[in-house]
Amino acid sequence: MPCAARGTLFLRYPEETRPIAVGDVVEVDLATEPGSVEERHPRRTVLFRAAGNVERRAQVLVANADAVLVVSSVRQPVFRPQGADRVLAAAAQAGLDSILCLNKVDLARAGEVERLLGPYLAFGCRTIATSASRGDGVDALREALSGRVTVLAGVSGAGKSSLLNAVEPGLGQRVAAVSKKTGEGRHTTTAVEMLPLRSGGDVVDTPGIRGFSLWKVEPREIGHFFAEFQPFLSQCRYVDCRHEREPGCAVVGAIASGAIARSRHASYLALLREAVESESARSVEGKREGRRTGRASREDEGDEDEDEDEDGT
Ligand code: GDP
Ligand code: ZN
Repeated sequence: MPCAARGTLFLRYPEETRPIAVGDVVEVDLATEPGSVEERHPRRTVLFRAAGNVERRAQVLVANADAVLVVSSVRQPVFRPQGADRVLAAAAQAGLDSILCLNKVDLARAGEVERLLGPYLAFGCRTIATSASRGDGVDALREALSGRVTVLAGVSGAGKSSLLNAVEPGLGQRVAAVSKKTGEGRHTTTAVEMLPLRSGGDVVDTPGIRGFSLWKVEPREIGHFFAEFQPFLSQCRYVDCRHEREPGCAVVGAIASGAIARSRHASYLALLREAVESESARSVEGKREGRRTGRASREDEGDEDEDEDEDGT
């Protein structure tokens, strides 16, 4: 049913670039054409879009999702822990369940799948090793997707479309069609789409999105999004330890003892640096903002869609 968000909804959620996201449960008034979205129900979960460092408003990409499925591959393209770890951290912040799918296991050398998945199994992350071409793991994947809303993430070429086709014939084509539309369209955000599964549940594809970001995260919070760091976070010599290379850091110590994978710590450091940068950018921005008089800044509105001008009057 074509509907436009009522103008008052924008006023009610000034912290967000748009009040309605894929996955929202809404109340609509269909007396007019298009109908009008009158109310948004409270959200169980939200995933944010990754964007620049300085933002004053959030862009919610998907609301009410249950899980995130990170699709990666052993090679072609080669598995990059940092990309996967970023998505897993965002899922942890959002309180979503996460599954790491490692595809193209038919291309793996002996022991390679175990080596790549080891760090994830060690902290209890659910993993599925698949080969879309050979059929390995497809039943497990189908089961993981059924009955809930799963957001797909992962680099292109890892085999997302092939895997979905293996799970349910035609599903991959629909996902690929969404991706193609995004590549050609001007507004990447509008292509986020929820696709129902025959087995119950939905998958949400987010093509053209660089990833999910941690929204307004404090540097000291990031360790909490790495499950295997938990037992060590309070054991460091300094209470304000950032777990980089401080003396007496229990997290760094756990790398030496093998309890924390070096690659996971590297991913942590990358997110930490970003959070530190965006924190200082925010404080510079805040000072500038303080000097401004009257008129509000418009510079954060560059990437918006025209449909947001809808004022519902
Ligand atoms: P997407 O961009 O993530 O949707 O990836 P595609 O599903 O389009 O797959 C990218 C390429 O990888 C295609 O050439 C697929 O045939 C190939 N591919 C997908 N899954 C597998 C797999 O399990 N093993 C191998 N060897 N190739 C695969
Ligand atoms: Zn530490």
